[in-house]
Amino acid sequence: MGLFPQQFIDDLRLQANILQVVQEVVPLKKAGTSYKGNCPFHNEKTPSFHVHPDKGFFHCFGCGVGGDVFKFVELHEKVGFQDAVRMLAQKFGVAIPEAEGSSDESRRDSALRESLLKVHEVAAAYFREQLATPAGARARAQLAERGVAAEAIEQLGLGFAPNSREGLKAQLLKQGFSQALLVQSGLLAQRDTGDTVDRFRNRLMVPICRDTGSVIAFGGRQMDPDQGGPKYLNSPETAIYSKSRTLYGLNLTKAHICKLGFAVLVEGYFDFAQLFQSQAAPAVASCGTALTPQQAQLLRRFTSKVILSFDPDAAGLGAAVRSCEMLVAEGFNVNVVVLDKGEDPDTFIRKKGADHYRARLRTSRPYLEYLLDQAAEGLDFGHDDSRREFLGKMLTVAARIPEAAARDQFADRIAHKARITEEVVRAEIRKAAVSKRTAVTSRELPSYGQLKHAEKALIWGLIHNTSEALGAVAELDDADLEGLEGRQILEMARSLHDEPLNLLPSTLLQRLSTVNAQLVTSIAATATSPAPPVECARALKRLRWERERAAIQREIDRLQQLGATQHGIEIDNLWQRKKDLLLRIEDLT
Ligand SMILES: [Zn+2]
Repeated sequence: MGLFPQQFIDDLRLQANILQVVQEVVPLKKAGTSYKGNCPFHNEKTPSFHVHPDKGFFHCFGCGVGGDVFKFVELHEKVGFQDAVRMLAQKFGVAIPEAEGSSDESRRDSALRESLLKVHEVAAAYFREQLATPAGARARAQLAERGVAAEAIEQLGLGFAPNSREGLKAQLLKQGFSQALLVQSGLLAQRDTGDTVDRFRNRLMVPICRDTGSVIAFGGRQMDPDQGGPKYLNSPETAIYSKSRTLYGLNLTKAHICKLGFAVLVEGYFDFAQLFQSQAAPAVASCGTALTPQQAQLLRRFTSKVILSFDPDAAGLGAAVRSCEMLVAEGFNVNVVVLDKGEDPDTFIRKKGADHYRARLRTSRPYLEYLLDQAAEGLDFGHDDSRREFLGKMLTVAARIPEAAARDQFADRIAHKARITEEVVRAEIRKAAVSKRTAVTSRELPSYGQLKHAEKALIWGLIHNTSEALGAVAELDDADLEGLEGRQILEMARSLHDEPLNLLPSTLLQRLSTVNAQLVTSIAATATSPAPPVECARALKRLRWERERAAIQREIDRLQQLGATQHGIEIDNLWQRKKDLLLRIEDLT
């Protein structure tokens, strides 16, 4: 931590309402003094994700994550603490103080990212201008042939990279960007000879944006099949662009996706363009490769239902199948619509119109059912071999379905299809699913079970009954905490006695390690107090004294075995200490 003054962090925490922050990501319902909803960090259909706005923390009983508002932003935006602080400060309009000793490196990084965004903004404007010039005439004609209207061209920000080695380069250098930065942006390519040229030449240019709308990369489509290079050329990965974390078109359709409750996943830019301009349905494009889990998680912020427009040609099927399986594994509701042979959404909509396409979407079928039919095709279930083959194929799919209920349902479909007993299929699937899941749960989880009852109750009290619990913790010595699972938590709480009481719960969460913070939220998220703090502190003290008494007893036993006469004095002393301890223990109760 340390980069920001604590006072600033505390001020920000008072401003940054955790309920508001979480609610922008997850719809929440009030449940008593807390709110609950579906966890954004694991797949679930029954809400086990709780937010306690008055105490400033969240916790998921399903996957165990928990923490304060900063932790939520860290996890959700996949950023570090510093960035989470910056994002929240910006969002809630709290001025960020000049960071003391903020590392030059991180300042350089964010300066680089800002410059790269600026470069892309200028480049996008340049490509748009070029499309309007006489040199862009052929690109305009191609777009017209493809039925992309002027309005859509503008909304999509389409442009043209002229057939020039230094067109964009000259423009950007003129604007004062350094050549080194332009190489880092991927817009210039460095040749073996050391000189730099425009990466995109003689290409129709498609800007690729973050879901917030900033241009972070480009895709360039060849104008002539024999001009060299691939048909589609993409920006390389840069400090602002990661292909696996970007979904083309989401910036334009996210509001529509939220409103309709689903997204259509298409393959290419032109499929997207047709769906977009005809308003047939809100789409995103995977751009020819299988969807990554990061892309799925990005989409998940807006919907959990995806309709996949399958391209019936075999090459498309490979990537589409991988996307489907990944989406199913991420807990999405996946439907499939298969168009006629030789049609993709682009050509289909141009020929038949948006209404027909929407009608096709309505006939889309759950992906799993589609798979069942595909796998069953050509199999004769009269033969054991066929049934075994079918079952084997389907088991691997079924094992990836995260929800037990959905898995059982799928099992029943398989059983019905292959005429196998449902129970047999369910059992097989469960076996497959369990062996798959152990890998997931083996990550570091808080050791809730190893905490003593009194520790849990004290920790619960620190959040909900802060003043009393702090008082109780202050009564504990280091020796009382020795060997306890919750030692670091209780020690941290003890060190925070000067903090304002209302801030203590969130300060504690912020200062603890992730694992310990999760441990705290998992305890604090339960509804009622396990026991009053004072009693808990007493119980912990008694446990310590009993530990000591047991140790003394072991020592007495050892000495007596060696011979009571030689060790008489030592044994007497130990007896005395043991008696003292017994008295103290009695006093406590
Ligand atoms: Zn969860």
